[in-house]
Amino acid sequence: MTVGVKVVKAPEMTVWERLYLPMVFKGLAITFSHFFRKSVTVQFPEERPEYPYGSRGLHRLNRDSDGRVKCVACDMCATACPANCISIVGQPSPWPDREKMPETFEINLLRCIFCGFCEEACPEDAIELTGIHDFASDSRENMIIDREGLLAVYDKTAPSRPRRAGKTASEGASNVEREGSLHA
Ligand code: SF4
Ligand code: SF4
Repeated sequence: MTVGVKVVKAPEMTVWERLYLPMVFKGLAITFSHFFRKSVTVQFPEERPEYPYGSRGLHRLNRDSDGRVKCVACDMCATACPANCISIVGQPSPWPDREKMPETFEINLLRCIFCGFCEEACPEDAIELTGIHDFASDSRENMIIDREGLLAVYDKTAPSRPRRAGKTASEGASNVEREGSLHA
């Protein structure tokens, strides 16, 4: 035996333990006891879980009280975005209260990490993350949401629905991609 090394022997199993039957019955008892408990499984999409406040889902571009897009194409959200997934092309605004508005505004949802930095950076409260999480597509192109798609998300979730309200925000806007408004 090597000096300084302590050999630890595995404890001997008794005959009862070698049978494994007690453990088998104990496992079955636990399994059957769950038959009579309330299920924690949610029957999605008919049932929707209550997302915690602050959970971050699909973006939206907000409108002002006149129905105009609030965004002034300042590019601060795109600058703050760590995933570099926001593309904005500005154009002169037709309204006297702002210089610019977005001609195009695209977010690549496959690159987005839903950090919320764009929302934090926006000086106009023009971009927000909603509680909508159930969007998917079978093509990469359809996962790029454009200006009209982002405004469509706003129209479905605001103004009556509170920001990032999880279940409430998901109601009626359950699958924006399925309803074709990622590229409205
Ligand atoms: S949530 Fe984060 S990663 Fe997604 S667009 Fe906004 S800043 Fe970029
Ligand atoms: S969404 Fe906000 S931060 Fe982004 S370009 Fe528009 S006004 Fe600027």
